[in-house]
Amino acid sequence: MEKKQEYEWGEGVFTLLSWFKKDKVKNARVLVAGAGALGNEVVKNLALFGVGHINVVDFDRIELSNLTRSVLFREEDAYSHAYKADIVAKRAMEINPQIRVTPIVGNLFSEVGFGLYRRADVVIGCLDSRIARYLLNRLSLRAGKSWIDGSIENMTGAVKVYTPGLSCYECGLSREEFNHIMLRTGCADVVRNQVEAGRVATTPISASIVGAMQVQEAMKIIHLEADGQVPFKTLQGKMLRYEGMTNTTSIYRFASWKNTCPAHELWDDVKECPELSARMTVGDVLQKLRELLGVEVVEINMRNNKFIDRVISDRPEKEFEVMIPESQLDAYIKEHKELRQLSYRTLIHKNFFENIDDRFPYQQLTLQQIGIPPFDVMEVSTDKGVQHVELTGDAGLYD
Ligand SMILES: [Zn+2]
Repeated sequence: MEKKQEYEWGEGVFTLLSWFKKDKVKNARVLVAGAGALGNEVVKNLALFGVGHINVVDFDRIELSNLTRSVLFREEDAYSHAYKADIVAKRAMEINPQIRVTPIVGNLFSEVGFGLYRRADVVIGCLDSRIARYLLNRLSLRAGKSWIDGSIENMTGAVKVYTPGLSCYECGLSREEFNHIMLRTGCADVVRNQVEAGRVATTPISASIVGAMQVQEAMKIIHLEADGQVPFKTLQGKMLRYEGMTNTTSIYRFASWKNTCPAHELWDDVKECPELSARMTVGDVLQKLRELLGVEVVEINMRNNKFIDRVISDRPEKEFEVMIPESQLDAYIKEHKELRQLSYRTLIHKNFFENIDDRFPYQQLTLQQIGIPPFDVMEVSTDKGVQHVELTGDAGLYD
């Protein structure tokens, strides 16, 4: 076929669908957390629909075992130990060159700027652990966004849609599940050896079905109008469960929304500051914040990360300078021969900073170096109360 100079993705195809709004889809922003089996399917489908801006987050590298259910990965990616997010982004743009897919190699909680959650029309969770779901739920609700959770095991799969005011992952956790998560995330000052997430037996079919349902729900949410004039029902506050062994599909209502839940903290007062960027030094940012907010006292409260200047082992008592964000500490210890060995047999204490003000001894480090990602929203305590300030100067990285 002759290549046309100009054509528009989906023109004359999706535009035949009565509900399809081309501009909405083209302008839509979707944040995809996880680039494994489900993430591959989800991003592929979003690309085929022509969703204009996709951010895909994953910290993992590709292994040979991923190839059986990851349509965007190739053998060469496993041999080169490429990052999942990088390859998903690259291949999705090969499928549809008219969209922009931006990879973020990092942790969805501490290494993704909150500005991306705020700008998203919908968040899609392609995750394999309770902790990751717990964290994604917190951030999505903080941004006032619905998030679509997919899970697969063997020949079954489930899709759940969490929506502010209606349903919340944390509200639905049992006491036992909650305690398990707290055990893994709660203790801030001691390094723990993280138990690797167990491999789940699954099939490429479960991933295709669940990934397809997730994107179908995302398309509905992108098309929702304030007046509710749409020809479809969403799964908001509900769960769809597919059982491949018996070919049954069931929908359950699981809405739970408890008024005392700490996850329902909505940041709707964010001040967007194009003057600020994660590439600026702590000292410059503190000064700029005083000017921008018209205050004397400023302190950045790091809610999702901490800065660690050194760690100290118990027995023998020995100090190591590290100078990294907490989110990178596990990887750092794994790479550091002596620390790795010590971490198996003794406690390692962290010396950390989570409230950053003029007394912070490393004013010349950039925000990113201390663990605040580009385009993030900082919680800033001032003499006029707490304010939420966005590093809007980084927005261009994700256009
Ligand atoms: Zn809740």
